[in-house]
Amino acid sequence: MKKRNIAILGSTGSIGTQALDVVRAFPELLQVSVLTAGNNTDLLIAQALEFKPKAVVIVRQDGFKAVKEALATTDIQVMAGEEALEDVVQDPAIDMVLNAIVGAAGLRPTVTAIAQGKDIALANKETLVVAGELIMGLVQQHQVAMLPVDSEHSAIFQCLMGEQQNPIEKIYLTASGGPFRGKDSNFLSNVTKNEALKHPNWVMGAKITIDSASLMNKGLEVIEAKWLFDLSVEQIDVIVHPQSIIHSIVQFADGSMKAQMGLPDMKLPIQNALTYPSRQPNNFERFNFLNYPSLTFEKADTQTFRNLELAYQALRDGGDRACVLNAANEVAVGAFLEDRISFLGMSDLIEATMCQQKKIEKPTLSDLLAIDRESRVVAQNLIGKL
Ligand code: NAD
Ligand code: MG
Repeated sequence: MKKRNIAILGSTGSIGTQALDVVRAFPELLQVSVLTAGNNTDLLIAQALEFKPKAVVIVRQDGFKAVKEALATTDIQVMAGEEALEDVVQDPAIDMVLNAIVGAAGLRPTVTAIAQGKDIALANKETLVVAGELIMGLVQQHQVAMLPVDSEHSAIFQCLMGEQQNPIEKIYLTASGGPFRGKDSNFLSNVTKNEALKHPNWVMGAKITIDSASLMNKGLEVIEAKWLFDLSVEQIDVIVHPQSIIHSIVQFADGSMKAQMGLPDMKLPIQNALTYPSRQPNNFERFNFLNYPSLTFEKADTQTFRNLELAYQALRDGGDRACVLNAANEVAVGAFLEDRISFLGMSDLIEATMCQQKKIEKPTLSDLLAIDRESRVVAQNLIGKL
């Protein structure tokens, strides 16, 4: 494999820091050109001093001074603000952009990177939820690679290797079920954010951890899968698999199924994307069957965890519906983390926002950016009124 220059957007987060662990493991193959952070100046500075990228971006303007001063004796370019994310991915030296930003904020940098011919390693599933059709059109147009980092989608992608001629009959996305698996609405009506933030199998950023507890994460992943693999809604099923060892499954026309498995460790799908199409030897921990004498499966409870059903409905309805769903969910998760709404109140808020926003059939990118903004305002205004 030829040495790859990568930009890591969101390098201070859960995926970003694990991506830097992967880069550390392959110094001959991977080189970091760009690092960006939302507001964690200290970690961004430490990362910049270690990895010596050409440029860093701190999105929050008030972090600029600290980063600039700390890197004054280096030749690292320091930029601030959201627009800088779009400038920084355009460097001709960059081969691949790993988008590990959380939320719809990741959309514009992805669009710009694709337009500049960069391969994309995508952790930021919200990009595809908000604008999947447009993004996959751009991927085609600019002939770039779109490499999934989300573990389920990485699993499907790996199962599809060598199957170019063979249509998918169906996929099964596996779901851990989160910390509240098996609980009823009565129980859920009283859960706190601290309980929701304790995921049984994965340590992740706060937003995706809450999404995992509410099953919205799986809903967003159903939408992500639709666009990545060009599937109909009916071809995508969710199966709860509490051990998170089987990362997802493809079923082909002859009924044969391929699954991809391994320990729940995001470094594996991250490495897979960053070193694609090669598989490089590493010393990460290996799976031991004897530690997992049974792998189990159960149906997802979409009556109690309504967010998964709301996401399926948004996908069936099409147009701008998934964009509204995502914006309302970002507001709902933020409000839940600030103790402004209850756990189950998140589904009510999302549903009410979707009812208030008139459907738009064929949104352009600028429509979607406007709908995202408007839906957030509608959702914020509904808090306390439901
Ligand atoms: P995180 O909150 O830990 O990190 C987010 C990163 O984005 C940080 O570097 C933060 O500074 C930056 N950021 C936050 N808001 C920003 C903004 N408005 N503009 C620019 N940068 C901003 O999140 P995470 O858990 O690493 O998740 C990142 C993405 O990867 C999400 O889309 C998530 O759904 C997806 N994902 C994460 C995991 C996981 O294990 N953490 C697994 C699968 C998919
Ligand atoms: Mg996932």
